[in-house]
Amino acid sequence: MSRFDGRKEDELRNIYIELNPIENAKGSAIFAFGETRVLAAVYGPRGSKMSKDYDRAFLRVKYNMITFSVPERKKPTPGRREIEVSEVIKRAIEPALLLEELPGSIIDVYIEVLNANAGTRTASINAVSLALSLAGIPMRDLVSSVAVGKVGQKILVDLNKDEEDYNSEKLKDIEEKRKFIEFYGEGRATDIPIAYLPYKNEISLIQLDGEINNNELKDAINLGIKSCKNIKNLMKDKILEYFSDTNIR
Ligand code: UDP
Repeated sequence: MSRFDGRKEDELRNIYIELNPIENAKGSAIFAFGETRVLAAVYGPRGSKMSKDYDRAFLRVKYNMITFSVPERKKPTPGRREIEVSEVIKRAIEPALLLEELPGSIIDVYIEVLNANAGTRTASINAVSLALSLAGIPMRDLVSSVAVGKVGQKILVDLNKDEEDYNSEKLKDIEEKRKFIEFYGEGRATDIPIAYLPYKNEISLIQLDGEINNNELKDAINLGIKSCKNIKNLMKDKILEYFSDTNIR
């Protein structure tokens, strides 16, 4: 018995990382958790009238889901969700940046969700973290991120859309009902995106949508931190590999 897509409880979806796919950006990265694929690009730091008197760099983050990234056509104009997710990503990343080393400048971060199957904000944080480091923005460490949660009665990492939408009462097919209730148990899903600052052993983002008790939350957070540490190591290895090849620009 396993999850909808065959994974174990603590197993991430396949991670795909591509560094600097965008020639014209200062730094860019694609990060994917399975079918959730996100592109982040960094422009700057650059001087601007608006920021010239600031004693630190000003970080701007714009998260966008492209029209064909979801099964139902997404309106191209940003809605409330995009504005909120942009702010959440900015706050998760900002503590790791040495913005005081770049006074009077602006750093623009653009995120395009290419394909969404849950976990786009967490994939975005990983992509942004990589893109900022490739852009040479001074950082204390990479920030890594993943969602954990409770689906039915199970504590899991990296929920996909079917799991985020899980509701044991809505499983119609008798065979599916038997199979999935046996694994997940009764109930609905609680999604908890987490971002982690390895250098401080601190969490810079935690959101909670649903219901969970204290002990379960502790287990979920521990699973999230363990997974974030693995993701960070993978990201770091990719960067080291990139610079050991002939990719220095
Ligand atoms: N989603 C969608 N259309 C939308 C917004 C979201 O189909 O306009 C889907 C998409 O798969 C997304 C998932 O719902 O990844 C969960 O969205 P949520 O707001 O929880 O954020 P995420 O998990 O992507 O960070």
